Amino acid sequence: RVRTRLSGLEPLSIDDDSLFVYVGERTNVTGSRRFRRLIAEDAYDEALEVARHQVEGGAQILDVNMDEGLLDSAAAMRRYLNLMAAEPDISRIPVMLDSSRWEVLETGLRCIQGKGVVNSISLKEGEDDFRTQARLARAYGAAVVVMAFDEEGQADTVERRVSILTRAYRILTREMGFPPEDIVLDPNIFAVATGIPEHDRYALDFIESVRVLKRSLPHALVSGGVSNLSFSFRGSPPVREAMHSAFLYHAIQAGLDMAIVNAGALAVYDEIPPELKEAVEDVLFVRKEGATERLTRMAEELQGREAEREEDLSWRELPVAERLSHALVHGIDGWVQEDAEAARVELGRALHVIEGPLMDGMNVVGDLFGAGKMFLPQVVKSARVMKKAVAWLVPFLEDEEEPGESRSAGRVLLATVKGDVHDIGKNIVGVVLQCNGFEVEDLGVMVPAERILQEAVERGVDIIGLSGLITPSLDQMVHVAGEMERQGIRLPLLIGGATTSPTHTAVKIAPAYSGLTVHVTDASRAVGVVSRVLDPQDATGFRALVGEEQEGLRQRFAGRRARTDLLPLDEARARRAVPEWDGYAPPEPRQPGVHVLAPYPLADLTGYIDWTPFLATWGIPGSYPAVLDDPAAGSQARALMEDARTLLDRIVSEDLLEARAVFGLWPAHAVADDVLLFESTESEVRARDADGGGSASSPAGLLARVPFLRQQFAKKGEGRFNRALSDYVRPAHEGGGDWTGAFAVTAGVGVEALVARFEAEHDDYHAILAQALADRLAEALAERLHERVRTEFWGYAADESLDADALVSEAYRGIRPAPGYPACPDHPGKRIIFDLLDAPALGLELTESLAMKPAASVAGWYFAHPEARYFGVGRIGRDQVEDYARRAGMTVQEAERWLAPSLAYEPEVP
Ligand code: SAH
Repeated sequence: RVRTRLSGLEPLSIDDDSLFVYVGERTNVTGSRRFRRLIAEDAYDEALEVARHQVEGGAQILDVNMDEGLLDSAAAMRRYLNLMAAEPDISRIPVMLDSSRWEVLETGLRCIQGKGVVNSISLKEGEDDFRTQARLARAYGAAVVVMAFDEEGQADTVERRVSILTRAYRILTREMGFPPEDIVLDPNIFAVATGIPEHDRYALDFIESVRVLKRSLPHALVSGGVSNLSFSFRGSPPVREAMHSAFLYHAIQAGLDMAIVNAGALAVYDEIPPELKEAVEDVLFVRKEGATERLTRMAEELQGREAEREEDLSWRELPVAERLSHALVHGIDGWVQEDAEAARVELGRALHVIEGPLMDGMNVVGDLFGAGKMFLPQVVKSARVMKKAVAWLVPFLEDEEEPGESRSAGRVLLATVKGDVHDIGKNIVGVVLQCNGFEVEDLGVMVPAERILQEAVERGVDIIGLSGLITPSLDQMVHVAGEMERQGIRLPLLIGGATTSPTHTAVKIAPAYSGLTVHVTDASRAVGVVSRVLDPQDATGFRALVGEEQEGLRQRFAGRRARTDLLPLDEARARRAVPEWDGYAPPEPRQPGVHVLAPYPLADLTGYIDWTPFLATWGIPGSYPAVLDDPAAGSQARALMEDARTLLDRIVSEDLLEARAVFGLWPAHAVADDVLLFESTESEVRARDADGGGSASSPAGLLARVPFLRQQFAKKGEGRFNRALSDYVRPAHEGGGDWTGAFAVTAGVGVEALVARFEAEHDDYHAILAQALADRLAEALAERLHERVRTEFWGYAADESLDADALVSEAYRGIRPAPGYPACPDHPGKRIIFDLLDAPALGLELTESLAMKPAASVAGWYFAHPEARYFGVGRIGRDQVEDYARRAGMTVQEAERWLAPSLAYEPEVP
């Protein structure tokens, strides 16, 4: 199959099935005033950022042009390309050398690595020159852009475009043996709507030429520089973007393969407002008399509107109640105190303001959210406005007697249960409930059952909501339910949080309590559930419905459990995932032992952030960055990302959070399902080296025995294993030991102060944003540290070089399973890690449920075996639990408590 192959550090293949290729245009002194200034002022660092920006904006090739009268273009080209070569994230993509002077092009050809494109050669100076240049380009291994230009000048009709390019193509392919796939034809994009009637057909003719060329000149690509098109509308970026995107849309359908564009600044065709799209297409396709005038008028109007949007304060003229409502719906907090005060004076009482315009505004927000017309981040911003207004009014409330009838829809108490520290989800639920008129009493994290119940009674709440993230919290919830039962409290109980589930709620929590227990899947459901529970008309029916559903879940659970087919533990062990130990040489760490990296520079982490889970936290589904262009959620995702990046920049530049990391690499070998870790002192390592034995054959000084759990479910078929993580560590009897590592990282040092600061300003939005970013930084640090361990400290993948995507999809050798996750669901593993690494010295703590504090922390094991992978242990039998208890040095009851969610049987109640 014939395809165009280009490359920077990475290859770029283009064929008929490829998506459209964007060539970044901003690194061009003739096309970008800013770039010209940077080059002229010698600000090459900043000029490199322009390139980086294009790459990040989606450019797959980078056009570089230094054609400026006052510049030494060749020298500037050389310098810029050489600097670029040192930036792997830029030089990853191929370069398009853009100049009208051959010597500049040739200078560029001498600098670039990989296979670039010369832009351009043409028949302007006749066939001899053309041949010489083509031959040289070929000698340097580059592809060429051929412009539709001949001895008579630039082609501006379909016929001339096609005939010149056909002639050039034939010379190249027939006479010179130039590979047709290395030819890029450029049939000239000119400005339309210039007021000169001869120019009207330029877009139409270009598109027609593309169609003809694609049909008649096989394998050649067709390209064009798009910005020229909209030259007449230089003052109106929205019109320009719309023109470019509509033009491309049609040109691509005609066969256009690539275009030189401002990557990152194109409108989405479907999102161009219909009126504008029509006006633009009228111009491009010469569809109507007066089309140019119409588009020009529209540009002026848009301009006016743009200017207004910046400064549109017309809403400030509205009556005060409407101003408050506007501020709430749009999340604008700049005037809220002044408006709240004006409303208070006007309505006479603070209470009337809260119960009148503020509640009305929040109802609008609640309705829009309920109808899917507003997204979580907007709702949380609205809540910020509400809070600031209320904060202003509260002091007045206290002076007002006879509080009057409260319009609160109900009071909800929220708490993260004892032993657990995670509360982002709970905080979001709280804000969403408040937006819907509920009063929320948030008790925070690690709240013991006694306190939850006591506060519920004292504060006279209508409902209790429990939240938790880690599996031991499930038990706490059962405990709270049992206590409610014992104390005769019959408030509806809501259950939410990452490890909770409808089944666990039905099977474990609801039976402990004769009141209503409901599981809430996510924040967007909370309002619906709470309203129904508290609605006297609906409550009975709702209760019956929930009861029925839970009964069904219990039956299904019992049925599943009865059908679960477990192997006896020794049989499961016999089916271990024995990797091929013959010929396997365990890589010896370059730097064994324990290493502390604290504080860890935040600036090194931002590029390692996986944004997909961040957006999910905010209820925006879809994977990053594709979701940014999603028709439904894209604009929300972009707005949220902008806020996130702004705060992240502040966090990094002002050191608002501190990250810390510790990890260790030790000699190890597996014994059955345990991994034994041994001391590694430098002298031992040296002694081993002196022996010539590369591996830790007889390590001394047992540091820890780590018990892992093994899959026990009966798998059908050959070659299916019952895995345990210990399978990936070489047992001593297989030719000597191996190595294993562990790590603990946090990015949560300082987060409480930061959150408190925002909360003091009644800014929940930024408080939750800060928490979510701390989580992201902790995960990013886990990723970055793992990378450094592979390439540097352990060093078994010293040559690895992966981009952000590859890292997020964990396309590397080795894994870092985390205790509490499916491959090692036992949280007590964290105690061993914390001891081995002395994590508390870094400010990390474990709660009694073995949640890590700060919440933005990650800990896990390192396994380097190439076959090591993540899996789920699944349900395990009593035989394994007893065995685990022995190995872990705990009683069977203790083990059953920690392993509760994994048990395939009902433990005996002691
Ligand atoms: N990029 C993601 C990474 C976190 S989730 C983020 O920023 O949120 C992936 C991590 O979870 C893994 O690196 C591992 O530490 C843990 N993990 C995932 N599946 C696991 C499993 N089955 N057993 C143990 N740990 C697992």
